Amino acid sequence: MPDGKPAGVRCIHLTDENLCALFGRPERPAVCDRLRASIEMCGTSAEEALAYLADLEIATRQA
Ligand code: SF4
Repeated sequence: MPDGKPAGVRCIHLTDENLCALFGRPERPAVCDRLRASIEMCGTSAEEALAYLADLEIATRQA
């Protein structure tokens, strides 16, 4: 995604199984490589993780 990924848009590199298709590859964005997942971020289900992301996107939305 050379122009960046807008908030709320699914990454084109996310597989149907919600895995990163670029994991371990040099073309994976540095920000993704540096991110360290936490229990708070991931929750216990995909739904909880998506809710956390939605809250984060609202909290960091530009005015
Ligand atoms: S880790 Fe980065 S490149 Fe991989 S699917 Fe997630 S946002 Fe996309």
